[in-house]
Amino acid sequence: MIVIKFGGTSVGDATRVQGVIEILAAARDRQPVVVVSALAGVTNDLVAATAAAAAGDIGMVETIIERVSIRHQEVALQLVQQKSDYFESFLAQLRAQVEQIRDILKGIVLVGEVTPRARDKVVAIGEKLSSVLVAYSMRLRALPGVHVDSEEVIITDDHFGEAGPLMKETRQAARRVLLPELERNHIPVMGGFIGRSRSGATTTLGRGGSDYTAAIVGSVLEAEEIQIWTDVDGMMTCDPRLIPEARVIERISYVEAAELAWFGAKVLHPKTIAPAVELGIPVRVLNTHNRESKGTLITEEGDGQAAGPRAIAVKRDIVVVHVTSSQMLGVPGFLARLFAVFEQLGISVDLITTSEISVSVTVDATERLPELVERLTPFATVRVLDAQCIVAVVGRNLIADSSVAARVFESLRGVPIAMFSLGNSGLNLSIVVAAADADRAVRSAHRALFESPVGARV
Ligand code: ADP
Ligand code: ASP
Ligand code: MG
Repeated sequence: MIVIKFGGTSVGDATRVQGVIEILAAARDRQPVVVVSALAGVTNDLVAATAAAAAGDIGMVETIIERVSIRHQEVALQLVQQKSDYFESFLAQLRAQVEQIRDILKGIVLVGEVTPRARDKVVAIGEKLSSVLVAYSMRLRALPGVHVDSEEVIITDDHFGEAGPLMKETRQAARRVLLPELERNHIPVMGGFIGRSRSGATTTLGRGGSDYTAAIVGSVLEAEEIQIWTDVDGMMTCDPRLIPEARVIERISYVEAAELAWFGAKVLHPKTIAPAVELGIPVRVLNTHNRESKGTLITEEGDGQAAGPRAIAVKRDIVVVHVTSSQMLGVPGFLARLFAVFEQLGISVDLITTSEISVSVTVDATERLPELVERLTPFATVRVLDAQCIVAVVGRNLIADSSVAARVFESLRGVPIAMFSLGNSGLNLSIVVAAADADRAVRSAHRALFESPVGARV
């Protein structure tokens, strides 16, 4: 069997859903399990609805609920062309889901505050609706789609908003729920992004988390392949929205793809690769809008070559924290005490560089920054540089050949650099620049690495 995941733009309107059905019809012999995102824009709408509810803006809440509801009805109507009992039963399901979130949002308005638990319950509705819609549409085209409730399949911890799967429980649940459907030759369709905690609360896996759902399901069912269908031709040498000249990468290794995703290549959720690695399941990134394209194949060995840059990613909203202490840096245990503060505050560090008297780290912009500074100040002088970006050049063994770094730095001549790092893994050459300089830095580096005659493997 294979897992096939469709992103939000792949199910954005009736024409796209029709395309999805054609892809599934062609893949039927491979026993697909289907994972779908919410219709494009719906999760953002639902997040906005919770914020409006917390602010007491009931008018805005109603507007958004209405918009979400009408959008799904319209897509369904366009697909069905004429009304039937079947269509009415779909509408009844839609209404029931919408009523449920309306009640929760009203509760939020009354309390004047939204808990992470309530927020997850509301935002999860996007995937619940889209998965019902896709399963329903498949039936209209004589494909045996069966809606499966993801909360019955993905069992998580209770870190609302960023829940982690409990793999043992999920394996049992997924096998119990999905395998009988496959045995009956059905095509199970489930929403990505959502799960349920042991205590029975709805959880979400973090924004963009439907890719992760696909990988989790692929892993627990030991799929032959995990396909991520999106709106670009595959993983590319850079985000094509930023660099129109970006090229598709035909084959890439797990480690390179994971690094790219971690450093901001939105095409894959950063946690997607991990479940596939253990069992060596190939992950393929494909374009719903261009089915002829071969896409990108992600495997253990990648393209098999030893070294060279593959792509550039940008991680935005980064803060650099410079910690300077003339007395303490050489003292054993100083770094341990320093990083214990990050750990206590749950702030994870991306890049680190040190000198004899200072340590510089990058962290994601966080509300806890003032607390971090307050807790570090007794040890050292702390300087925070906000509105920064990490520009990450990713590839294998980038340290083998200093010409890669030379070309990157040469291309960035004139751009102020706050920090850079090239770790021993040689997987990523990361340069921190001000947000205002990031796009031009990426363009210059991309030109130097991927558009020059010296060129790089793609
Ligand atoms: P989906 O809704 O299918 O999950 P996303 O919007 O999450 O789609 O991811 C696809 C987008 O990722 C593309 O439209 C593209 O702009 C962006 N992207 C960022 N970096 C890359 C990259 N290196 N290769 C391809 N796409 C990228
Ligand atoms: N719908 C969710 C989001 O927009 C999950 C996903 O699309 O992967 O974040
Ligand atoms: Mg995505």
